[in-house]
Amino acid sequence: MPAHVLILGGTTEARRLAADLAARPGIRVTTSLAGRVARPGAVAGEVRIGGFGGAQGLADWLRTHHVDALVDATHPFAEDITANAVLAAAAGGVPTVVLRRPGWRPGPGDRWYDVPSLAGAAEALPGLGRRVFLSTGRLGLAAFAHLADLHFVVRSVDPPEPPMPPQTELVLARGPFTVADETQLLRAHRVGVLVTKDSGGEATAAKLTAARNLHLPVVVVRRPPLPPDAAAVPDVAGVLRWLGLSPA
Ligand code: NAP
Repeated sequence: MPAHVLILGGTTEARRLAADLAARPGIRVTTSLAGRVARPGAVAGEVRIGGFGGAQGLADWLRTHHVDALVDATHPFAEDITANAVLAAAAGGVPTVVLRRPGWRPGPGDRWYDVPSLAGAAEALPGLGRRVFLSTGRLGLAAFAHLADLHFVVRSVDPPEPPMPPQTELVLARGPFTVADETQLLRAHRVGVLVTKDSGGEATAAKLTAARNLHLPVVVVRRPPLPPDAAAVPDVAGVLRWLGLSPA
């Protein structure tokens, strides 16, 4: 049984895993958050906030805090921290696993357009609709800033910073959202096309069902690949098995 588990967090699964581990006697669990959200929700166990200073900084942290298992439970699009986790854990000989929830797949009736990046989404948009629901997070708006003719509805937890498209309407909200919530939002803003990252998971999937019901096209930014040597599991149960623990 590991004595000290470091979870790289910022996702629902990271929070669930921390709650599970913190309830087990004899395990110390620390969750690391990047500090992007001004008021993160409560997390069980210990929490540290802010970057480590690259792979070397993370390797130092693992050593000085006697971490004996590292779980990268960051978002599928948080590419840099996952690369750093794999490097740092290998350098320090700390067992590590990536919790990567499966991506979304289209179902019958879906009109999805796969693109490899936010820039690819910006390229695809003008042919698909003039009123866009952009649910890709507040940090990627620069990729759409040149699309002055399109109207964007942007939803994020904290307000975004420029650059962003000139016609940007902001909806500040924190999920999870129901299909009814999402349908109402798409209708109220007369949205013609939705843009999403392939985040996967249930927490943010309602917008896809709402788009299907309203016959709206969806531009899906596909996720970056995992580092080649990364061991990955799809869910919290997989991490528990990897840690040699039975489900609570
Ligand atoms: P990123 O581009 O992969 O990481 C950039 C830098 O931020 C990393 O090199 C690291 O700095 C720091 N960092 C990232 N995650 C960290 C963590 N959990 N603890 C400590 N430092 C962290 O990451 P990102 O895409 O900006 O995402 C930042 C956080 O937001 C992640 O924790 C992720 O789970 C969460 N999130 C991201 C998205 C998304 O779409 N990207 C969506 C929802 C939630 P140093 O090099 O200084 O260590």
